[in-house]
Amino acid sequence: MTSRDELYVILEVLRTASVGEIKKAFRKLARRYHPDINPGDRLAEERFKRITEAYEILSDPMKRKFYDVNGFYTEGVLEQQGRQSRWGFSFQGFDFSRSSQSHFGEIFSQIFERQTRRREPERGLDLEHHVPISFDDSIRGLKTKVSVHRKHACGTCSGSGRAPGSRESACITCQGLGKTTKSKGHLQFAVVCAECGGTGWTAVACQECAGEGRLPGTEILEVELPPGMATGSRVRIPGKGDAGRFGGPAGDLHVVTNAAAHPFFNRVGDNIHCSIPLTVSEAALGTKVEVPTIDGPATLRIPPGTQTGQAFRLRGKGAPSLLNPGMRGDQYVEVKIRVPRIADERSKEILRELSRLNPENPRKDLWR
Ligand SMILES: [Zn+2]
Ligand SMILES: [Zn+2]
Repeated sequence: MTSRDELYVILEVLRTASVGEIKKAFRKLARRYHPDINPGDRLAEERFKRITEAYEILSDPMKRKFYDVNGFYTEGVLEQQGRQSRWGFSFQGFDFSRSSQSHFGEIFSQIFERQTRRREPERGLDLEHHVPISFDDSIRGLKTKVSVHRKHACGTCSGSGRAPGSRESACITCQGLGKTTKSKGHLQFAVVCAECGGTGWTAVACQECAGEGRLPGTEILEVELPPGMATGSRVRIPGKGDAGRFGGPAGDLHVVTNAAAHPFFNRVGDNIHCSIPLTVSEAALGTKVEVPTIDGPATLRIPPGTQTGQAFRLRGKGAPSLLNPGMRGDQYVEVKIRVPRIADERSKEILRELSRLNPENPRKDLWR
């Protein structure tokens, strides 16, 4: 540096500029002349180098003071100067604690502090939402509203994570390569650039979502549950899981039903099981009984000689099938024979008579 004013001219600031003004001027110029923004432009590259040098000196109070007094600054000159007052420059009145603040990397992080890493778009998570439903609703289906906590796409940046109107630029840290080198002793390692996540690009982050492209919130969704939902059945609603990060596609929402139990019907798959009591004479002689089904009462014929535990099928009276729409399961009716509690002598006499007429031993097979 030859001329005393040259550094100020390079940064396009007055000699009296404050630290803040210098910083602001540097940011403006660095953005304009950065080599990544002007690929192949040697003049811009040279200009950028000079801007950076000028900033490194003028942003450091001690270096700036030395430059102002002596009209030049070279690296290491302050250290020499500290030992002997060779350059006619005094340290008096200086705050030493602030002297080493303008580390090169720090300068960049300051200029581009509003930049954020641009990451590969990531698909959002699938979400599960459990809905309790009544037995009747599980059979007939239901249109309902559910309140879901999910991350939705940021409206400000339309989910991209970039500030509206901003463009992507090559990552400063890795020069757009997506990798930086780290050295340990004599060894050098290539590591994924932390600034851009290996993409080589950065962009100004949307302030609303801090660059994620999505925001958490609660959404009311209308859900149509088809007939036949059981406990653990699920309906997939595409795109209503968490929105993707960095503009990635959204996940799905799975609505999982928890159907209430019924006092009479017991659902097993698409079939419905139930049990009804029969009297001894109904079971022995046979009869017709009314049995509740999910469609209302149905007539079941009980043949003579029906045993307790025997089950009869009512075809097509089961639950609607989720897998095969339009199909239905069956209803199984198990009978339980209720033995009368007899108190009067006449009834007892009739039963003894019955035993004499039918001398069957039901336990004869036990010792065969
Ligand atoms: Zn946003
Ligand atoms: Zn990078």
